[in-house]
Amino acid sequence: MAKMRAMQVAQARAAFELVEREIPQPGPGAVRIKVQACGVCHSDAAVKEGLWPGIQYPRVPGHEVAGVIDAVGAGVQGWKVADRVGVGWHGGYCGYCAACRRGNAFACQSYTLITGLTSDGGYGDYMIAPASAVARIPERLSAVEAAPLLCAGVTTFNCLRHTGAGPGDLVAILGLGGLGHLGVQYANKMGFRTVGIARGADKEALARKLGAHEYIDSTVKDPAAELKKLGGASAILATVTSAEAMGAVLGGLGANGVLMVIGAAGPLPVNLLSLLTGQNAIKGWYSGTSADSEDTMAFSVLTGVRSMNEVYPLERANEAYQRMMSGQAKFRAVLTTGN
Ligand SMILES: [Zn+2]
Ligand SMILES: [Zn+2]
Repeated sequence: MAKMRAMQVAQARAAFELVEREIPQPGPGAVRIKVQACGVCHSDAAVKEGLWPGIQYPRVPGHEVAGVIDAVGAGVQGWKVADRVGVGWHGGYCGYCAACRRGNAFACQSYTLITGLTSDGGYGDYMIAPASAVARIPERLSAVEAAPLLCAGVTTFNCLRHTGAGPGDLVAILGLGGLGHLGVQYANKMGFRTVGIARGADKEALARKLGAHEYIDSTVKDPAAELKKLGGASAILATVTSAEAMGAVLGGLGANGVLMVIGAAGPLPVNLLSLLTGQNAIKGWYSGTSADSEDTMAFSVLTGVRSMNEVYPLERANEAYQRMMSGQAKFRAVLTTGN
């Protein structure tokens, strides 16, 4: 049998280890992807640190996968060998359950699949994905450009287009890391009056370069009060993983404003009185399906939005993961296989 390389996690809190595995065969309804690039996402910590209930080891993480289909399983329609494709967090949907039939494929009741978590992902030369999980990569995006758009990109883009905010409305992006640096770009290109909120005066130049019209340094100013001065936010995209930081901006929502949560955080204390007087909402946002990923990539090509990436060869996954987890990566880390 032909072999491939993978960087697997043997058990919770173990380092990524380079292993040789048999190249897997796609079953019915699935395709095999020859991986070219795979982003390193904060959610990979669910695998690496054993934070996901019931996760099985060894596991190969990676849910920002870009590559080429190199084998097609029985019954797959619409995809062929050599198609350039990507896969994100969403691991596929059935198309026949009640959620799918009502247009909520993200909440599919039959397939509770998460790429690189319930199945092996893109930290390797090859991976298998259900055809429903696969998104077509536009010609004008390289694999390294496409990979981070398949989780960080689709999560921020798809969330921002569902906030209810319209052109010219005040939209704030909380956090300027891997997610936030894309969120600011998308918000600007969608026509929002875009506010970047981060810790430190040194981030202002970056925020403005990415397209923020306003910047709030939350270490010296009360971000909620500053947002109120600007008229109150129609939406705040919370990309941070600190519930405390989210709580600090909540009061900056304008009438009918919504706090969109895409970073996983602990309990969030909420002043319910201000929530109801402003008719405000706190809403979680799931990343998106393969169709949402295609929309994200198309919009990125159209408007020039790109992730800023540090690129590492697959074998240096440990280093890339540490850079990402420490918050030092500028701004996404992407592994390449050389394929
Ligand atoms: Zn992710
Ligand atoms: Zn379904």
